[in-house]
Amino acid sequence: MPAEPPRQACILIGSEGIRLDASAAAVPRPLLPVGGRPFLDWLIEEVARHGIPRITLLVAPRAGQTVAHYHGTTRAGAALEVLVEPEPLGTAGVLRFFADRLEEHFLLLNGDTRFDVNLLDLSLHHQDGALGVLALRRSTPDARSSVVEMDATCRVTGFAPRAEGQQGPNHGGICLLDRRIAQEIGAGRVSLTAGLFPRLAARGGLRGALYDGAFLEIGSPEAYAAVQQRIPEMARRPAAFLDRDGVLIEDTGWPHKPEEARWIPGAAQAVKALNDRGYFVFIVTNQAGVARGFYPEAQVGVMHRWMAAELARAGAHVDAFEYCPHHPDATVPAFRRDCHRRKPSPGMIRDLLAVWPVRIEGSFLIGDRETDLAAAAAAGIPGHLFPGGDLAAFLARLPALHAAS
Ligand SMILES: [Mg+2]
Repeated sequence: MPAEPPRQACILIGSEGIRLDASAAAVPRPLLPVGGRPFLDWLIEEVARHGIPRITLLVAPRAGQTVAHYHGTTRAGAALEVLVEPEPLGTAGVLRFFADRLEEHFLLLNGDTRFDVNLLDLSLHHQDGALGVLALRRSTPDARSSVVEMDATCRVTGFAPRAEGQQGPNHGGICLLDRRIAQEIGAGRVSLTAGLFPRLAARGGLRGALYDGAFLEIGSPEAYAAVQQRIPEMARRPAAFLDRDGVLIEDTGWPHKPEEARWIPGAAQAVKALNDRGYFVFIVTNQAGVARGFYPEAQVGVMHRWMAAELARAGAHVDAFEYCPHHPDATVPAFRRDCHRRKPSPGMIRDLLAVWPVRIEGSFLIGDRETDLAAAAAAGIPGHLFPGGDLAAFLARLPALHAAS
């Protein structure tokens, strides 16, 4: 059975670093500046945009001071906490030590690598009896990484040294773990890759999921120089702007109650397909039902939180929900306005473009009305009219989707 979507992501912050200046101390790799800010900040934002509300930094003793300022802050909607090991315990030992701070299922990410995958997809690969799912790079000639061996059911059976030129999957530095692994770790300093994972694999408790996403690491000064350009590039993605009512949810006339809302067939699969292909997914919805007094503005948030939770169970997420509650003929005076954000005006799309690093090339909108397409055109984005039916099937036929990926 798939696991519930993760509500926590832990990021491992080791003390190994790179000296930026011969006279200065080495900077822990996750803290190295990339494009003007720490590598870790890019990683945190990537995790947070998946809607994961809690991010826990698991920090080696010597790196503790360098990340202390993250503790108690919020980034892109995620609450951050910093837990520092009292002594070096290894990448598995630290999980044992802080076991009471872990959610039932949690993501674990290396702090000095980036693997571009849909983080919510891992839960779908979980099965009863497994304690972990590894995100695997499908094939890599990287001579230093061991090959992950799997059976036909994607159960990890072992790890083997990579022979010269051998292709085959290797661990991409991201996994979904069950808190119960803490009982399997054992005492002292224990590593995940050299200690816990081979042990779990030997008794069939580990699964693998294969991905083709880009992978980056900052293991050496040369690799560090290379990520300066690639990390900001990786953050730039094409976007799919989706109307809500009539595209994701049946337009039954101002739908605003989760218990009455009906999904369009294929809606969650369509959002997940966009997530899997590395798109930003944005909802842009006119909610003049607020202006007309049919429901309070807070109800829009109730609907969107419900949609986010439902989508997460399907391995899908929306990066941002934008709505316009205004109408020029509003019965509620506070919402009576000819708003630049109300479609057919492009304000909601423009506001998203101002905040998110969207690559216009490959971006598009899907709407069920001419006003949606007019808003897209005014923002310089191609629009596609959804005639109803299955959204995932409609999406799969869009040439824009194939051109961008
Ligand atoms: Mg609509």
